[in-house]
Amino acid sequence: MLDLTFAPPTPKVIAGATGDWELVIGLEVHAQVATAAKLFSGASTRFGAEPNSNVAFVDAGMPGMLPVINEGCVAQAVRTGLGLKAQINLWSAFDRKNYFYPDLPQGYQISQLYHPIVGEGEVIVEMGPGIARRVRIERIHLEQDAGKSIHDMDPAMSFVDLNRTGVALMEIVSRPDIRGPEEAAAYVGKLRQILRYLGTCDGNMQNGNLRADVNVSVCRPGDYEKYQETQDFSHLGTRCEIKNMNSMRFIQMAIDFEARRQIALLEDGKEVVQETRLYDPDRNETRSMRSKEEAHDYRYFPDPDLLPLEIDAAWVDGIAANLPELPDAKKARFMDSFGLSDYDASVLTAELANAEYFEQVAEGRDGKLAANWVINELFGRLKKDDRSIEDSPVSPEQLGKIVGLISSGAISGKIAKDLFEIVYTEGGDPEEIVDARGMTQVTDTGAIEAAVDEIIAANPAQVEKAQQNPKLAGWFVGQVMKATGGKANPAMVNELVTKKLGL
Ligand code: ADP
Ligand code: MG
Repeated sequence: MLDLTFAPPTPKVIAGATGDWELVIGLEVHAQVATAAKLFSGASTRFGAEPNSNVAFVDAGMPGMLPVINEGCVAQAVRTGLGLKAQINLWSAFDRKNYFYPDLPQGYQISQLYHPIVGEGEVIVEMGPGIARRVRIERIHLEQDAGKSIHDMDPAMSFVDLNRTGVALMEIVSRPDIRGPEEAAAYVGKLRQILRYLGTCDGNMQNGNLRADVNVSVCRPGDYEKYQETQDFSHLGTRCEIKNMNSMRFIQMAIDFEARRQIALLEDGKEVVQETRLYDPDRNETRSMRSKEEAHDYRYFPDPDLLPLEIDAAWVDGIAANLPELPDAKKARFMDSFGLSDYDASVLTAELANAEYFEQVAEGRDGKLAANWVINELFGRLKKDDRSIEDSPVSPEQLGKIVGLISSGAISGKIAKDLFEIVYTEGGDPEEIVDARGMTQVTDTGAIEAAVDEIIAANPAQVEKAQQNPKLAGWFVGQVMKATGGKANPAMVNELVTKKLGL
C-alpha cells in the first residue's frame, strides 16, 4: 500500500473586500464506456467513422424498435465501480429523461436517475508526495450519449451525425469535496488514470471521451466544515454548473473565473443564481446558458421498454477477481521492489503502457538504473521524435540488455548512450553490437595505466598546476577518456590519475 497522509482540505482562498472566500467544487464526469457496441443497440462505437454509418434503428428512434441492454457495458460500469471501491447495486433501473433535440431522435435519453448501478465510492488524489485527499463519489450511472449537431458546415443548414447517439456513458458524480482548481484537475487526472488502467474508458479528452460538468460555489471559511459535519447543503453557497469541459487547463481556468465572478456578485450585495454556464476559452470567461427557471422539466419516469437491471453477486465477484493492479498499488510496489523515489514511481505509473515497459526493463536488474534509462533516455528520445511508447523503436528487451551491460561494468554510461542511439536508429541486439564494434569498457589496468602515463608525460605544465590545485585532475581524466575513445572505466582512470599525480 502507498504510505499516504490524508491532509485536511486546504481550500483555495480568494481574498475579497469583505473578507476571505473559499471554493467548493463537485464534478460530474461523463466517461464513454470502452466497448465495441452501443448501450442498447449492436451499432459500432468506432470513432471517426463516416457520419451516420454507425446507427441502428434503435439509435435512430424508429417506431417500434426496442432497446436491448449490452451486457458488456454493464460489466464495464461494475468494473469501474469496483475500481473506485464503490457500492455495486445488484438492482438498478433505467429512466427516461425527456427533452427534444435534433440529435436525439428518441425524444428522450435513457439514464438512471432513481436507481444507479453504482453507489458510493472514492478517489484518492495525491496533491504532493505522500499527501492525499479523499474525494467521495456519490454515484455512477449508465446513460446514452446524444448525437452531434453540426452548424458550421453550411451557412444556411445544420447537419446531424447520429454515430454517437446511444453510445454508453458512465456519469461519475463526485461529492462537493474538491477545494480548488488544481485539485479539480488532479481529480480528473486520477480518475482518468484509474479508468484507463481498468480498461473501461479510453479517457481521450480531445475526442470528447471524457468530459466534465464542473459545479462551483464559494463560501466563507468555516462553512464547509459545517457542511461536512451535517451534510447539509444549506451551509454552502449557491452553485453554478459549467458544462462539457474537456481540457484540464480550461477546467482550472473556468473554475477560477467562475469563483471570482460569484465573489464579485456577492460582495456587491447581489445573489448567485443557480444556472448552467458555458466556458469560452478565447475570452476566458463563463457565460450563462440557461437559468434554473428556464431549466428543462425532464419528466423522468421509468423506461417501460426496459426491465429493471438485476445482476448476480457471483457475476460481480467474478469481475472483482479479475481487476488489474491499480495505479496506487502499482506505484507502491515500484517504490518497494525497485527502490524508486515517489517521483519516479509516479512518472512510470502515470500510464499503464509505460509501467509495463519499465517493469520488463527492470525485472531482475538494477531498478533505479532502469528507471533512469526509461525516464531520461527513452522518454526524452521518444518525445524528440513525437513518438509514443507503443511504437518505440527500442524494445524493453533491448533496453534491459543495455541496462544489464552497464550494471555488469561491460560498458560505461557514456558508451551506453552511444549504444542506445545505435539500437534506436539501427536496431539490433545490444550485446552483439558491443562485441562487434568493440565497445566494451577497458578495465585492463595495464592499458589504462599506459594511457595515463602518456598524457602525464606529454603535459608537464598541467601536471604542475594540478599538483597545486587537485580539482584540475579532472582534466587528465577527460584526456584519458578521450584517448581511449570513452571506453576506459572512469572509476579506474580516476584512481590512477590521482595516484600518479601524487594527489
Ligand atoms: P443535479 O442533479 O441538479 O445536477 P446534484 O445534487 O446531483 O445536482 O449535484 C450535482 C453536482 O454538483 C455534484 O457533483 C455535487 O457534488 C455538486 N454540488 C452540489 N452542491 C454544490 C455546491 N454547493 N458547490 C459545488 N458543487 C456542488
Ligand atoms: Mg447535474
